[in-house]
Amino acid sequence: MTAATHHATGCLVCGAELTYLPASVPMACALCGASHPSAARCVAGHYVCDACHSAPAKDVIERTCAATDERDPIALAVRLMRHPAVKLHGPEHHLLVPAVLLAAYWNVRGEPGRKADAIREARRRSEPVAGGFCGLQGACGAGIGAGTFVALATGSTPLAGPARGLSNRMTARALDVISRTDGARCCKRDSFLAILAAARFSREHLGVALPARGPACEWSASNRECLADGCPFHAPAAPR
Ligand SMILES: [Zn+2]
Ligand SMILES: [Zn+2]
Repeated sequence: MTAATHHATGCLVCGAELTYLPASVPMACALCGASHPSAARCVAGHYVCDACHSAPAKDVIERTCAATDERDPIALAVRLMRHPAVKLHGPEHHLLVPAVLLAAYWNVRGEPGRKADAIREARRRSEPVAGGFCGLQGACGAGIGAGTFVALATGSTPLAGPARGLSNRMTARALDVISRTDGARCCKRDSFLAILAAARFSREHLGVALPARGPACEWSASNRECLADGCPFHAPAAPR
């Protein structure tokens, strides 16, 4: 069973089976943090509110990133990618990349109150970056998302000096690593590469260390163009 089908039927956070209590009790949503009475949660204890359950991808990404206290942008990205609204490939990844980076950045800096506005602005800036930019314009939207993260973290504008330089250098670094796989687009691989490049860049140039490590990919089996052993995140299939 692939991650996509697994999470479509089980827990949206971890894929485990759901269990039902005899009566509703207050539960905090594992995605947006809102508290609601519910009788359903997964065997690992995750409850997902109705709004997060049925929201479109960009709403799920924005709500989750604005509410989370997660400091690891890769862990946050994987959690979002398991949500059935986030498709295997698609322009929602152009928001996902800057949103998980901004959430982790402001959480590590101890200023979580600055996340929501920044993530809303990242969403606005991601809208013109259409699906297929990677192969059609030669600029992968995940790489552009890393540059958007640095632009928002530094307050860059077209008139800024060093901040504009840093933002463009971030996009260049991310696009460079993305280009080097020489493979068909994979929004999982390219998002992970952009996030890892941004975590390195944040430590070196912004003085903020984001804990991030390359994950073991859960989506290989559902991706027809998967590079398999040619992808840095490819993991052998789990025993069934
Ligand atoms: Zn769960
Ligand atoms: Zn929720």
